[in-house]
Amino acid sequence: MNILLLGPPGAGKGTQAKQLVDERQMVQLSTGDMLRAARTSGTEMGKKVAAVMDAGHLVTDDIVIGLIAEQLDASHEGGFIFDGFPRTLAQADALGELLASRDQKLDHVIEMQVDDDALVARIVGRSTCGDCGEIYHDQTKPIPADGKCTNCGGTEFKRRADDNEESLKIRLMAYYKQTSPLIGYYYAKGNLESVNGLGEIDAVASEIKAALG
Ligand code: ADP
Ligand code: ADP
Ligand code: ZN
Repeated sequence: MNILLLGPPGAGKGTQAKQLVDERQMVQLSTGDMLRAARTSGTEMGKKVAAVMDAGHLVTDDIVIGLIAEQLDASHEGGFIFDGFPRTLAQADALGELLASRDQKLDHVIEMQVDDDALVARIVGRSTCGDCGEIYHDQTKPIPADGKCTNCGGTEFKRRADDNEESLKIRLMAYYKQTSPLIGYYYAKGNLESVNGLGEIDAVASEIKAALG
């Protein structure tokens, strides 16, 4: 089963994807994580996209489609969770073709609905474990008092350069202009389901579970 988690920055896509990976042996494909890894390892592509990402704009379709295409050849029994890809109609068409050429398809598209007001608080409070990528939040999922990651015991935590109010405004605009048309696109294809992303993490997970059947 292949699924797409669709929603604005801060909707909780990464958080829910990680739970599905643990529970269903699915593989998470996050273009945001892949792009950040390219930056950290200092590849030419990583250098090229750094300023665009920090400003909150989308990187070009070719780059992210290439990143995803590389991952699809290794098949995984649990299937893929697409997180943060596709983000444009061109990427959505490309994903459909990439999957079809491998006799696969997107089985479920889950739209995570979160009010814009809530996104600012989600984004400015976000941090992640530097070792395992576990996602924390200053208020809703704080790092334990002993300073150790609940998942791996790591003690280094990171904040993203683009997790500030100014960049979020640009990211939200990119979401509404370039990504939100995908809601209609997948509705028309017949596999869109919407969940309320404003509930607690476990409540959202239950709604997603129900949608996946
Ligand atoms: P996305 O991948 O959609 O950008 P994340 O999963 O990284 O979103 O979540 C953004 C922030 O909001 C993180 O700090 C995360 O801990 C927090 N968060 C995620 N889901 C919820 C939720 N249901 N309720 C409260 N906070 C949440
Ligand atoms: P968020 O947590 O805000 O949902 P991501 O981690 O998915 O953000 O993405 C961070 C940044 O990486 C985006 O603002 C954009 O610059 C770039 N990016 C990630 N995925 C894509 C994509 N599919 N198309 C274009 N740019 C992308
Ligand atoms: Zn960790």
